Amino acid sequence: MKNLLDRFCRYVKVDTRAVDDVKEYPSCKGQLELAAMLARELQALGLGDASVDSNGIVTATVAPTAPSAPPIAWLAHMDTSPEASGTDVKPIVHRKYDGKDIVLPGDPTQVLRPAETPTLARLAGKTIITSDGTTLLGADDKAGIAIVMTAIEELLRAPDIRRGPIRILFTCDEEIGRGCDKLDVKKIDAAAAYTLDGEDEGWIEHETFSANLATVTITGANIHPGFAKGKMVNSVRLAGKFLDRMPWQALAPEATSGREGFLHPYVIEGGVAETKIKILLRSFVTSDLKEQQKILERIAANLTAEFPRAKVAVAVKKQYRNMIEHLGKEPRAVELATRAVRAAGLEPRFQSVRGGTDGSRLSEMGLPTPNLSVGMHNFHSKLEFACLEQMESAVKVLVELARLWGREKGASGATGRGAEKPRSRSGAAGKAVRGSKEKKAKKG
Ligand SMILES: [Zn+2]
Repeated sequence: MKNLLDRFCRYVKVDTRAVDDVKEYPSCKGQLELAAMLARELQALGLGDASVDSNGIVTATVAPTAPSAPPIAWLAHMDTSPEASGTDVKPIVHRKYDGKDIVLPGDPTQVLRPAETPTLARLAGKTIITSDGTTLLGADDKAGIAIVMTAIEELLRAPDIRRGPIRILFTCDEEIGRGCDKLDVKKIDAAAAYTLDGEDEGWIEHETFSANLATVTITGANIHPGFAKGKMVNSVRLAGKFLDRMPWQALAPEATSGREGFLHPYVIEGGVAETKIKILLRSFVTSDLKEQQKILERIAANLTAEFPRAKVAVAVKKQYRNMIEHLGKEPRAVELATRAVRAAGLEPRFQSVRGGTDGSRLSEMGLPTPNLSVGMHNFHSKLEFACLEQMESAVKVLVELARLWGREKGASGATGRGAEKPRSRSGAAGKAVRGSKEKKAKKG
C-alpha cells in the first residue's frame, strides 16, 4: 500500500481538466500525457499488453491465475471536472487530522469546516489530502486510478489468490458526459465491470435515474408590434404560460429529494415567432417518464386549444436508463461487490444516484457496471479532499472482488450471455441501508 499515496500525488499533478464544447477526443492534451504515464507504469508492473488506444484510453489486462473464471473490468476516468482549475495542483497531506477547520494556504478564504462537512467530522485521526485551495484536488477520479494501480500491484504480489482475467480501462472525458463514447463493450468482453468513481467508503451505487429530454417548440406569429392587434401570437408569452403550468411545487428539482423524480426546464430560447424550452424528465421508475411526458403533452394541448393560431409541439428523446434494470443480467455484479466490501471489513451501503453515471450507459450497452467508493469528498470544488485510509480500504475491496470472481465459473457477460429479466428494485439492495446522492448528477 505504500505506493498508493505517492501514485495519487503524482497523478493529480497532471492537468487533465476536461473542456466542454470541443470536437477533439480527448478534450485536452493532459489526458494523453497521463495516459502515456499510466501505460508506462502498467508495463513496469508487468502488464505487457498495456497501451494507449487511438482515443487516448488506456487498456491493459491482469493475466489470470484461474483462467476459467469470468473476466471482469475495472474502470476509472483520467479527466477532472471543468468546474474548477486543474492547473498546477499542489496536493497537501494532513497526517493525523486533528478534527479542526482546515485553512487551505494558497487561498485562505477556502476553509474546510467539519461543521459544514459531516463526512470530514468523522475522519479525525485519519490522513486527509487536499489541494492548496487554488485548484480542485482531482481525487475524482485520480483516487480511482491510484486505487486500481495499487490493487493490481497487490494482486501480482499474491499469486496464490486465484483470479480471472481483469481488464483495466482508464477512460477520458467522463466529466463532460463523453466517457462511454469510445468504449466497445464487446471488446471489453467482461461478465461485469466496476467504475471506481464513488464517494466515501463502502458504497455500492447500483441505481441511477432513468432519463428523457423533452423539447417543447412553441410557434407563434410575428408582425410589427405597432400593427399587431388581432394578428400577433407571441410565443414568448405562451412559453411563460407553459412553464407556469408545469408542476413546479411538486415535480421539480427544487422540491424533490431521495427517490422522487422531477421535470426540470433548464434552457429556454427564442423570440416572438418561435420559442423552444428544453426539459429534463427524471425518475428512478422508467414507466414514470411516460406519465411525465403526458403532463407536458396535456399542457401543450390545453394551450393550443386556448390559442388556436399557435402551435405547441412536444418532442421527447431517450437519454439513459436506470442501471438497476440492466444489472439483473448479471446478478453477481452487485452480489460479489457486496461480499467484497464486507470481506474488506466495511458495511456495504447501497446508493441511488440522482443522475446518471458511465455505468448507466455501460449497463444498458450490455456490461453491468455498478460504481464503487474511492474515498473522495466534495468533488468538483476547491474544497475537494480524499482520505488515505478510505482509499486503502478501496484497494482491499478490489483485491477481495478479484478473489471472489476468481472462484466463479461462466461465460463473459457482454458477448456470451442472454439478457435475463430485470430484477426488482427490492432485489440485491432490498435489505441494505439505502441513501441517495444529491450532488452527483453528472449527466443531469
Ligand atoms: Zn468521477
